[in-house]
Amino acid sequence: MKEFNVIEYFFKAKSIQRKDVIIGIGDDGAVTHIPKGQALVTTTDTLLSGVHFLPDTPPHAIAQKAIAVNLSDLAAMGAEPAWISLSLSLPSVDKEWLEAFSNGLQQHAEYYSVQLIGGDTVQGPLAITITAQGFVPFDQALTRSQAKPGDSVYVTGTLGDAGLGLAIAQKKCLLDDQLNTDYLLNRLNYPTPRLMVGTCLRRIASACIDISDGLVSDIKHILKASECGATIHVDKLPMSQALKDSVSSSQAIDYALSAGDDYELLFTVSEEQKGHLETALASANVHATFIGQLNGAVGKLELRQADKPYDYNVKGYEHF
Ligand code: ADP
Ligand code: MG
Repeated sequence: MKEFNVIEYFFKAKSIQRKDVIIGIGDDGAVTHIPKGQALVTTTDTLLSGVHFLPDTPPHAIAQKAIAVNLSDLAAMGAEPAWISLSLSLPSVDKEWLEAFSNGLQQHAEYYSVQLIGGDTVQGPLAITITAQGFVPFDQALTRSQAKPGDSVYVTGTLGDAGLGLAIAQKKCLLDDQLNTDYLLNRLNYPTPRLMVGTCLRRIASACIDISDGLVSDIKHILKASECGATIHVDKLPMSQALKDSVSSSQAIDYALSAGDDYELLFTVSEEQKGHLETALASANVHATFIGQLNGAVGKLELRQADKPYDYNVKGYEHF
């Protein structure tokens, strides 16, 4: 099978058609329409075999994670997703792998109403790069830089699940309970981009980021960009029953603080906007947990447990 046939058969034929796509896969470039009053948000993330996923991860999960991590970045900007492009580096044309991968990709694309509009296909080590694009009303993008001392810090969902899921997948940890094992592996392999929360937070959150590298690591981006400090109460960190059942409470806290790959949103809200936040979250039927407060100690992150400093020295994931 030649490159052209791979694209036709596995990607073009399965793609959904959006009305705003004038030219999709098949020409030298895609041509799309941006709605009036909206700004275009663009983000890219690469998944490398052996770095971002274990080589034996099901291709279906790899495809869905590649989409989810990109849509999570759009969610963190308050954007609504529209299109994706796929740059695929494959060691060989393995039809069975491509079938499962492209099915996973299209299933997720359809679920989120995003259209695959182009890409590139090359031979090389297994790597998947997706560029996702979406819309946000032109002055409503959520950023990392507008948080202020006094703002409250919230996170969606639960933290640390994907971290323990990774330890299970790497066989560094073996749980007795199969349901918990499956839940944690699913949290690792099939993250949920918090798109509803992201759009809900427009004009309400002062700053927002998705947690891809771990809470401690990612909140520091907000502290730096917004020139603030933060106090986080480790006893308030939201954790799943599966995580709490499986490890000691101090291990659970360390997973929640430092493990990456959860793709929850961390955001800040001023005192004046808190009422709007509650209404918006309730109407979207989503939950977020208050975990601490920003202050003026620029760049400093203070962790506290029951009003004592919490001793912490695990680092988030860093490539270099
Ligand atoms: P060019 O040589 O002009 O870059 P290609 O032969 O690489 O064009 O691609 C042909 C068409 O197929 C283009 O529209 C491109 O966007 C699309 N395409 C290539 N690879 C992929 C892929 N993995 N997924 C989706 N579309 C792809
Ligand atoms: Mg090309």
